[in-house]
Amino acid sequence: MTEGKKRPQSSPEDIQNALYGGVPMGRWKEGLLFDGIAPTPGLKSAANWFPRTEKIGPDEMRIIFMGTSPMIRPGQMNTSVFVQLGNGDSFVFDLGEGSVANYIAGGFALNELDKVFITHLHVDHFGALPYLYMFGGWSGRWHNKLRVFGPSGRTPEYGTAKMVEGMQMMLGWHMDAFDLFPNGEGWDIEVNEFDFRDNGGVIYDENGVQVTHWQRSHAKDGASGYRLDWNGLSMAWTGDGRPSQLDAEYAGGVDVYITETQAELISISSGVMGVPPFLGRYTIDTHHTPGYAAGYLMNQVKPRLGMTTHMAFDAYQNEETVAEIRHHWKGPFHFGAPDGVVVNVTKDDIWVREGILPDYPNSRSPQFDFSDGQLVVPLPRNTRADIQEPFVREQEIDPAEYYPEGYHPILLEEWPVDSDLVVDVENLPPALQKSMGENWRDRVAYRKHIDELTAGDEGSE
Ligand SMILES: [Zn+2]
Ligand SMILES: [Zn+2]
Repeated sequence: MTEGKKRPQSSPEDIQNALYGGVPMGRWKEGLLFDGIAPTPGLKSAANWFPRTEKIGPDEMRIIFMGTSPMIRPGQMNTSVFVQLGNGDSFVFDLGEGSVANYIAGGFALNELDKVFITHLHVDHFGALPYLYMFGGWSGRWHNKLRVFGPSGRTPEYGTAKMVEGMQMMLGWHMDAFDLFPNGEGWDIEVNEFDFRDNGGVIYDENGVQVTHWQRSHAKDGASGYRLDWNGLSMAWTGDGRPSQLDAEYAGGVDVYITETQAELISISSGVMGVPPFLGRYTIDTHHTPGYAAGYLMNQVKPRLGMTTHMAFDAYQNEETVAEIRHHWKGPFHFGAPDGVVVNVTKDDIWVREGILPDYPNSRSPQFDFSDGQLVVPLPRNTRADIQEPFVREQEIDPAEYYPEGYHPILLEEWPVDSDLVVDVENLPPALQKSMGENWRDRVAYRKHIDELTAGDEGSE
């Protein structure tokens, strides 16, 4: 701007009155609900989360609702709560049917999802486990086991370990078929079945992360809630169940308290949900947490943010759900629904956004730990000849008949090497080097951050 066009500035009083006049600036408190609710540093948008655009801060927790309903439908997959930590760790709490599509849309590689905590064995909480088990193995879970955590049942036949055994039996054909591919430890599962009665028991304690559990009253023995604590931050996911003193006791004081809920709209919702009212009422009163009880428990737990999920997310219900919760709980509240809701948590702030989950996403490459400086691709255990009689293979049409003249792709009809393939990272094609090492590089950066903090502490003392 040229000197001649610059206009005289408004008076300090006018600037003060216009820009700062109606802004609290700490002079008064705005709103009823928003103490400690503000965007955390590092967000690219205060309204939306776009997959693969933001790193989690080193001292930040991010929670993404990947499935939010017991009744599966296109906008709401069965329940799954994903927790990511600034140290690069991530945790899957429940893995309901269809939720894997949202993990993919969220930009997460299946082989990153290697710790699954199942609250109970209703299929709307673990229906996607067979898919994750098989396709996660196929797409890079070659060097670490899938780890599954879940409660015992009153008898061994109803425990998590028995479910996994049954799942493996169900997947016999699939596993043998997928042994045509590199697999390594892909089919190994570490089952961590804990005693459902051991309230407050620690079932995971690694890298400064602790997961504890408590039992829920969900009609049948073997239903649990989980609480995760890390670096002064915490979240709890109750799973399903009737409101109980144990919830207040074991989730007490948590930063983000996530409970399931069902609004008291049994007869009106039957018209929308297709659940006969008598069945709805009986299901809730034996298994679930009514809206009033969700608010009652939030008021006992006193979280920095109370959330509900495992609920119908419908305009006609939402106001009612809020009204019921507000009867007892006056603090910060947000729906953990529909699918894709994202929560960022730091010591000072919590912020909830809409996650933009594309229908046709760019899926993330498998993620590998390159600390050893190498990528190892295991030798497949099977060849086609091992698992298929020759007849049907011999009926395959000669590719020369359908590929156009002059187009001669090199086909990989047999696995091209006869031992594990070992490649130094610097010899990987640059695109693979970059895409497959993203998570590992984040972890290295976190360790560096911690080292710097520690060095800073020593310097100041
Ligand atoms: Zn459920
Ligand atoms: Zn259930």
